[in-house]
Amino acid sequence: MPNLDSNIEFLKGVGPQRADTLKTELGIFTCRDLLFHFPFRYIDRTKFHRIRDVHTEGETVQLRGVLRRLETLGEGKAKRLVGTLRDESGIMELVWFRGIQWLEKSLQVGKEYIAFGRVSEFNGRMNLPHPEMEEATAETGQKAKNFDPVYPTTDKLTQKGLDAKGLRKLVRTLLDGLSPTDVPETMPEYLIGQFRLTPRYDALQKIHFPENQADLDGATRRLKFEELFFLQLRLLQIRTRRKDSFRGFVFSKIGDFFNRFYQEKLPFELTGAQKRVLKEIRSDLASGKQMNRLVQGDVGSGKTVVALMTMLMALDNGFQACMMAPTEILAQQHFEGITSLVGDLGVKVGYLSGSVKGKKREAILAQLASGEMHIVIGTHALIEEWVQFKNLGISVIDEQHRFGVEQRAKLWAKNPAGPPHVLVMTATPIPRTLAMTLYGDLDVSVIDELPPGRKPISTMHKTEHHRLRVQGFMKEEIAKGRQVYVVYPMIEETETMDLQNLMSGFEALSRDFPPPEYHISIVHGKMKPADKDFEMQRFLRRETQIMVATTVIEVGVNVPNASVMVIENAERFGLSQLHQLRGRVGRGADQSYCILLTSYKLSHEGRERIQTMVQTTDGFVIAEADLRLRGPGNIEGTQQSGMLRFLLADLARDGHMLAAAREVATQILEKDPALALPDHARLRQHLASEGKDARVWSRIS
Ligand code: ADP
Ligand code: MG
Repeated sequence: MPNLDSNIEFLKGVGPQRADTLKTELGIFTCRDLLFHFPFRYIDRTKFHRIRDVHTEGETVQLRGVLRRLETLGEGKAKRLVGTLRDESGIMELVWFRGIQWLEKSLQVGKEYIAFGRVSEFNGRMNLPHPEMEEATAETGQKAKNFDPVYPTTDKLTQKGLDAKGLRKLVRTLLDGLSPTDVPETMPEYLIGQFRLTPRYDALQKIHFPENQADLDGATRRLKFEELFFLQLRLLQIRTRRKDSFRGFVFSKIGDFFNRFYQEKLPFELTGAQKRVLKEIRSDLASGKQMNRLVQGDVGSGKTVVALMTMLMALDNGFQACMMAPTEILAQQHFEGITSLVGDLGVKVGYLSGSVKGKKREAILAQLASGEMHIVIGTHALIEEWVQFKNLGISVIDEQHRFGVEQRAKLWAKNPAGPPHVLVMTATPIPRTLAMTLYGDLDVSVIDELPPGRKPISTMHKTEHHRLRVQGFMKEEIAKGRQVYVVYPMIEETETMDLQNLMSGFEALSRDFPPPEYHISIVHGKMKPADKDFEMQRFLRRETQIMVATTVIEVGVNVPNASVMVIENAERFGLSQLHQLRGRVGRGADQSYCILLTSYKLSHEGRERIQTMVQTTDGFVIAEADLRLRGPGNIEGTQQSGMLRFLLADLARDGHMLAAAREVATQILEKDPALALPDHARLRQHLASEGKDARVWSRIS
């Protein structure tokens, strides 16, 4: 038996050709990769259903019976292979639309088979489309005591004989040659006892070939816990190490800039939540350690002023500050907002983006290098190499979900004097479990209070039939001097159609809202930045009353006079996106409205999303619902994050286990930061061995 790190080619039954396919199709390069290619489900061989008892559509069943009939029906697209399976209780129809030729050859009428599949209903009768078929032999009878693993596979692998069954055989070979020393225990004995964990070797055997449900549950729980625990341990270690090794600039004093701003300029009283978060930031900045803090606050909770006051603390201590936003529009808005907030305080604020060129750019770069410029606000351009500061004390990153961890790291490298403090702000509320993982290396503050006097946005669900009424309503609001957004979905895969949709929507609106009374702006991702900006500016200056747009307006844009958000095809947006879009209105003192237009027929999930929006405006409630409905991989802003790619764990369902794992990891590192105690030798060894494994690390840094 080859060892776990050897090429999969050398496992008995593989060879060079299959090895190639395993590599390209499943990313299985070594025996270890195969060991961790876990089944995605199991065939419960311990149970057979009686055909007569099968009446639930969608149920997965295993039947055992004799194949009584097999014939090809229909022509062309309707061509199908139909069979009948009979057991002592009744008959079930089996149907295949693909692979007919091969099935016709391999199945034999009169033989006994085990059919496995999901029940579906057709013309009021149950049938089994595309069941997996296996001949019932003495051997399958034997297997009736087992759970058979089913592995993810592909067409190409199936052609090479590596279908679910073929893979099962390879894994069996691998496991038969596996000894406990190949997969050493990674958890300290005391934790195994405390959490009653299945030992690692047993768990790896049983995750593939459990004998019963209890085996499977134990193995799954153990491996999930391991996955979550080590991720948390690594994240917390990164955090601790960074705190210990990077001395942060100490901002010991609160000076004139901050005090004068607070007393003379701040146009409103800070909310309790804003004050609390500012205190947390202040204490980080005075601590002598580098701050890495995430501020989560719902749309409109007032993050900008918190960012500004944080930057003023840097200025008071002789440092510069920068603020980075994901889009040009947003960066510009921050620039304008902050310039007007600081007024005549004597703070020099600059703007930098890819479109600032030539002499203008040179002047700004020179002022940043000399220290004359206090605050610079801009886009990604700020992290380019040619931007150098004299002494950058703090970087604020707005709407973090568009920035990766690497980009954060780039910002640290800006400074000759060492890494600046980092304040990350996001308006996408993230469920606690996700935040622990995505931002596990950051400290988190939450602004969980909106400024007073805001009227909650009233949200309505309307279908196509109500379009005229919706337009009437838009006209009423416009007559009151308000402005309206009409947003269309734009998804990369269906871009051309979406663009057509948007354009015909725009044309229809232009007919119903004609000049000279009405003017309409349009903004979408295919437009040149300058044109986009022009249209946006017209809307901002109130020269147009309606803004037709795609989600480019989603992030941060602030038009307080806009009071109606109409979202077309609302069922096609994710929850957090809908929430972000809705947050574009309700920024002024007027009552605001969000109208979700959908087709009449909605999927179950679509309906639930729309209902959630109608029922609540609490971003955290919405985020939890989103996580539950779509799973963590689809939550906005997490797609690129390899960190959420777990083998087994599911952040939507395993929140409790995650919290427990983080708790344990925290306790361990508090007691033994270097993992030097004999009890923690296994942890140290495992982390070191994974450190050599590039794949694991690429997920984190
Ligand atoms: P977000 O958190 O979405 O970035 P902003 O910082 O853009 O929110 O703030 C939204 C609006 O609320 C701005 O017009 C801002 O001036 C105003 N605002 C912020 N804090 C307060 C407060 N404490 N009281 C009243 N208005 C506030
Ligand atoms: Mg903002």
